[in-house]
Amino acid sequence: MNVPDPAVGIVSAAGARRWDGGHPWIFRGDVRQAPTGEAGPVAVHDARGKPLGMALWSPSSEIAFRRLDIDPDAHIDASWWAARIARASERRDPVAVSSNAYRVVHAEADGCPSLIVDRYGAYLVVQLLSAGLDACRTEIIEALVESLAPDGILARNDASVRGREGLPRLVEALVGTVPREIAVEEHGVRYLAAPHDGQKTGAFLDQRENRVRIGSMARGEALDCFSYHGSFALHLARTAERVTALDSSESALTRAASNAALNHLTNVRFVEANAFEWLRDAERRGERYETIVLDPPAFAKSRASVTSALRGYKEINLRAIRLLASGGVLFTASCSYHITKPLFLEMLQAAASDAGRRLALVELRGQPLDHPEVLTIPETGYLKGAIIEAMD
Ligand code: SAH
Repeated sequence: MNVPDPAVGIVSAAGARRWDGGHPWIFRGDVRQAPTGEAGPVAVHDARGKPLGMALWSPSSEIAFRRLDIDPDAHIDASWWAARIARASERRDPVAVSSNAYRVVHAEADGCPSLIVDRYGAYLVVQLLSAGLDACRTEIIEALVESLAPDGILARNDASVRGREGLPRLVEALVGTVPREIAVEEHGVRYLAAPHDGQKTGAFLDQRENRVRIGSMARGEALDCFSYHGSFALHLARTAERVTALDSSESALTRAASNAALNHLTNVRFVEANAFEWLRDAERRGERYETIVLDPPAFAKSRASVTSALRGYKEINLRAIRLLASGGVLFTASCSYHITKPLFLEMLQAAASDAGRRLALVELRGQPLDHPEVLTIPETGYLKGAIIEAMD
């Protein structure tokens, strides 16, 4: 009798083709035979019995298997994880020269599916975002300690995707203790990250180089819309005359004020407001800005909300464009995965057209080195940005 191996999953021909094409996921619909064991690393075979490699098995997820290794003999232990993490960490060496807050592991893009590891100085903040990965937590902690020697590791496992994996949502220290606020440095600017309860893992690390870039162009009256804890504002304030940092969150702005003080910057004012309303009022007041940053939260959380999200993006961009002084520059971004690069550009063109201004597309921006966007894995890319100059 043919007894199925509990630690082997069998996938359809379509699933195997996707895998061979460089995409690391096998969806539930492409599983011909599920492993009978618990969540964790398993071998994956195609329907003819050919071994495809090793993957993380998540029994209750839409994404059944996530590729770990195309070597079917790979042993997924602490030293396997340590090798992957060390490789990812080495790739970040150029970033580490000018910042001590950066992403060490960007999940699938670094061959560590559903694992996020962010460094804040001597501390690490991790997210284990699938059931298969969570089963490897002991080995991963051991590997992180061995390859990165942190003072402490915090798990920000409160992300909603964990619910879909049948996992509890919680924030817990895995190694040592991690402070509520960690002072980090980014290209000469210091700021406080909030690993326990801040957005993402405590800061928006993905905009680091974009902040430096627009900071280098800033001048005159500057506006940082959706400022969070002031990260763009701090860079703008180094060369602009005055910066308005605007956000709807009081607690974010409180930290923004601490961050300005930390950098001895006295030319930043903080405004708690709804950006949509404030931009409209600023236009009515006839205000003009030489430098504007628009870094809103993801308006499109799902494919279904793309149309309404585009309306929102267009509205704030149109309003910001109207506030641009002659010769002024705008850095505008979208971090919605569902807003593709072409959709983002189309939205900007529509806003420019409605504004009736001559606007130069100076630069298209994307993700930094520590958040690699892998061409065969579109899900690893989400951040788009553009620098626009008012030519009229
Ligand atoms: N630019 C920041 C990240 C911004 S995250 C950085 O580089 O660190 C998005 C921010 O938008 C959050 O701080 C959130 O509080 C704020 N926000 C969300 N909706 C808003 C609204 N309608 N008006 C103003 N701020 C808003």
